[in-house]
Amino acid sequence: MRIPGTGEQPARAVTTLLHGDESTGVDALLTLLRPRPVYPFDLHVVFGNVEAALHGPGFAHRFLEGQEDGNRVWDTPVRPAGALGSPQRRDADAVLGELLAGPLDGLIDLHNTTGANPFHAIVADDDPASLDLATRFCTTLLRWDLGVGTLLEAVAPHAPAVAIECGLPGRRASTAFALDGLRRALGPRPGALPPADHDLVRDLRRVTVLSDVRFRFGGEPDHEADLVLEPNGDAANLRAVPAGHVLGRVHPGAPLPLRVTAPDGSDLTDALLVLRPDGTIVTRTITTPVMVVRTVEAARKDCYCYLAAA
Ligand SMILES: [Zn+2]
Repeated sequence: MRIPGTGEQPARAVTTLLHGDESTGVDALLTLLRPRPVYPFDLHVVFGNVEAALHGPGFAHRFLEGQEDGNRVWDTPVRPAGALGSPQRRDADAVLGELLAGPLDGLIDLHNTTGANPFHAIVADDDPASLDLATRFCTTLLRWDLGVGTLLEAVAPHAPAVAIECGLPGRRASTAFALDGLRRALGPRPGALPPADHDLVRDLRRVTVLSDVRFRFGGEPDHEADLVLEPNGDAANLRAVPAGHVLGRVHPGAPLPLRVTAPDGSDLTDALLVLRPDGTIVTRTITTPVMVVRTVEAARKDCYCYLAAA
């Protein structure tokens, strides 16, 4: 949608539901737009994977079987085999073309996290305009430079862009956080203020479970699970944890079933993780876990977590 404003300023954009199970952005946008505000700019509003959101009980699937992840299809030079003309990529190309057809003064992409997380904002660049937009929402910031085809990364070279992680979906506090931030971000900008004091977590390394490993959350390894991940690992999200922080357990003597990769694809597993003789998997250095998930589906469809430099 393009909601016309008075045209005094360049257009802005709010996107959400790139993941079909993330309802907070929809709730916040409906509340924001129901009184029909007229802004001094045209406002692009994009609802992403409506099909996945409507499937089953509603807001239950990140994406559907046969679809690509809706936030990995944006303007990516390297495309997986067979994915060139996927419907998700065609939609993404069309939306991006529309957003960037004229001047764009900012993009806000609203998400939820799968596990418990403090509210935080993600930037691809740490330039003043991006930091200003992000700190309208909060002061815990994450620098995302993984080059994996997110909307944030596709827009950032052209306009200030942020992804906002509004905690768990379905909570009133999550919606209130998103709504408050939208109102501040879309409201008047009082000139060039220095960005608010903030924490910027950076240097994300991706932690995945090897594809042939059977795993679950909680309990002990047994004949059904080669790997057991900590049931409340998300409690450490965006907190620096010391070396020896436990991620999970395998049968004593079994190989390490997790892999850690840098943005360039290089393997950092041995540099960051230790498999103890009793089968416990721990961190080797002080680090900050980010986006630790709580379900097998979430870990399979994206990754288990990221480990940032502390
Ligand atoms: Zn998301």
